[in-house]
Amino acid sequence: MFSYRHAFHAGNHADVLKHAILVQILDYLNHKDTPYWVIDTHAGAGLYALDGDWAGQSGEVTEGLDRVLGAAQPPALIERYVRAIQDFNPDGVANLYPGSPCLALHAMRPDDRLRLFELHPTEGQVLEDTLRQQMRASRRQVAVAFEDGFAGMKRLLPPPPRRGLVLIDPSYENKQDYRSVQQALRDGLQRFAQGCFVIWYPLVQRVQAHEMVRALERMPVDWLNASLTVCKPSSDGLGLHGSGMFIVNPPWTLETELRAALPWLQTVLAQDDQARFNLTRSAKAGQGQAGAAGAQAPATDGSRPRNDRPARPAAGRSPHQKRSPSRK
Ligand code: SAM
Repeated sequence: MFSYRHAFHAGNHADVLKHAILVQILDYLNHKDTPYWVIDTHAGAGLYALDGDWAGQSGEVTEGLDRVLGAAQPPALIERYVRAIQDFNPDGVANLYPGSPCLALHAMRPDDRLRLFELHPTEGQVLEDTLRQQMRASRRQVAVAFEDGFAGMKRLLPPPPRRGLVLIDPSYENKQDYRSVQQALRDGLQRFAQGCFVIWYPLVQRVQAHEMVRALERMPVDWLNASLTVCKPSSDGLGLHGSGMFIVNPPWTLETELRAALPWLQTVLAQDDQARFNLTRSAKAGQGQAGAAGAQAPATDGSRPRNDRPARPAAGRSPHQKRSPSRK
């Protein structure tokens, strides 16, 4: 069994990028009345105590969510994400961080369905308990399977309403994950060609990581690839210097929103002068069911987004505000 525990990383820069995009896609799906399914192949524990020992030990949230909460003029994509986080922290201090299952459930309507996979028995049990007790999720709407999400996902596709999002978010602790992601996406698209598939990937100095992204970009589908580097790769080759989201059949609104959000995120989450973002789009853009019109050129620059709105007060959410003692 692997040792990865998402609680150490909850609310870090990678979670900010991943979850802001997830919330935007769910928002988009909510525009139509037809129900949809969300399938989360690597669900994690669901809800994380930012004032708990694990998050406190790593301190990663201070370089992620805390910076975002303290920054002015967030673009729309980030504002929506922040609102979702605030809903889990009504007392105004960000002590709880919702992972992808809780963020998804929070956005979904009663007729939408959430199907979760988590292989780690302890994480899976915490997830199950959190969903039933804290989120009051019904078994009809939400099901947790304690099994391999790469394999389990296949039997759920296509989802009965033929609308849905599949989030593939492995820890990549196992190098095989890089290959499994590609296979899962191929299998998934065979069964559910019009589905929105969202793959999180790490920016690390590992050849498999680079190869996976290049292979994904060669797939003849409509995709959008957004990545954010927050610092220079470390000299020992260890650690995460950024992350990316590869989205197949993206909502047509997502590219525009990311064009506004990524420069802002680059500025706010930069740890050194190597921070940058990248946003690329498949040549096939617009041909997929949910794709936007027009292929795009890669955009990489350090400019701040144009945003005419007044600075948003960060009242009650300042990262400088001390978190309350651990609820654990
Ligand atoms: N998606 C979560 C979120 O955004 O809040 C975070 C998930 S975390 C990066 C990856 C999780 O996948 C870990 O909890 C790990 O135990 C679990 N895991 C690892 N291999 C798995 C597999 N083959 N199938 C399902 N879960 C797996």
